[in-house]
Amino acid sequence: MVIIMRPEATLENIVEVTRVVEAAGLQAKIMEGAQQKIIGVIGDKTKLVSVAIDALPGVENSVAISKSYKLASREFHPQNTVIDVGGVKIGGDEPAIMAGPCAVESREQLFAAADIVKAGGAQFLRGGAYKPRTSPYSFQGLEVEGLKYLAEARERTGLKVITEVTTVEGIAPVAEYSDILQIGARNMQNFGLLKEVGKCGKPVMLKRGLAATIDEWLNAAEYIMNDNPNVILCERGIRTYETYTRNTLDLSAVAAVKHLSHLPIIVDPSHGTGKWRMIKPMAFAAIAAGADGLMMEVHPNPAKALSDGSQSLTQEHYLDLMNGVKKIAKFMKDENLNPIVID
Ligand code: PEP
Ligand code: MN
Repeated sequence: MVIIMRPEATLENIVEVTRVVEAAGLQAKIMEGAQQKIIGVIGDKTKLVSVAIDALPGVENSVAISKSYKLASREFHPQNTVIDVGGVKIGGDEPAIMAGPCAVESREQLFAAADIVKAGGAQFLRGGAYKPRTSPYSFQGLEVEGLKYLAEARERTGLKVITEVTTVEGIAPVAEYSDILQIGARNMQNFGLLKEVGKCGKPVMLKRGLAATIDEWLNAAEYIMNDNPNVILCERGIRTYETYTRNTLDLSAVAAVKHLSHLPIIVDPSHGTGKWRMIKPMAFAAIAAGADGLMMEVHPNPAKALSDGSQSLTQEHYLDLMNGVKKIAKFMKDENLNPIVID
């Protein structure tokens, strides 16, 4: 349920409504609307049946939220969420670009990748130190050593770092070295991990599960949001009957998520297609569809990559792609072309 306050409601009115909600055993979250303050109510709303919320001073009206997720819903939070990661905004005017190798393989490999990523104009360096590989015999990542290389690369380049956390025990080290914690597709419904990662104090990027519906994905975000409003969603393709591509990149998820939620959404055309040749067209389309940014795999030598070389861009292809992405984003901004319809 959301309680919409009148524009002229006073701080005392808001405090009183919050007190009444909490006294009934529910949580109250205060949000800034465009004109008005909104108080989100989390918990079993039947506990409020005997309380005439709408009659409290300063209350305009109250509206039930129809979705099973609340904090992530646009009904709860009508304005787009913009997440500030050390001065870089995700969900703002400029697309947030996250690029780098699938896995951190060595200091040299990561630094070479970081220089390429920086030269193309991305703001974030990606690279897995903990790799959730399909086969237990595949390269599993450098773990803490890899995290240290990422932090060194940040020092060298000024890029922010995003890297995946795969276990509850991994949250503290990853939060120490990374600016954003990534929850991978395979862990999207690892609810124990989601609850704990919400407490880490840093923004979290939640990738869509391999076969997750949009509703399941937003409910997964809700687990993190219980403790942390700074959640970024990432569409990375879903499993369908198509086998030519690694996954089917669901670009319609951008429009759906923008309608249903206020959270920023990033598109990953590397995992979404599995083919480096398809990254550029899907990246262009994602920006045109209103995505808040991109995550892409870039490797100094994709043929030698320890993982996902076939969906990694070379320096040349990455720089070419970024040139186009910047032009599309600028054109859309200058022409005021916003594809997102919010009603
Ligand atoms: C990744 O981004 O490194 C990754 C493993 O992606 P996903 O979880 O989407 O498969
Ligand atoms: Mn990968």
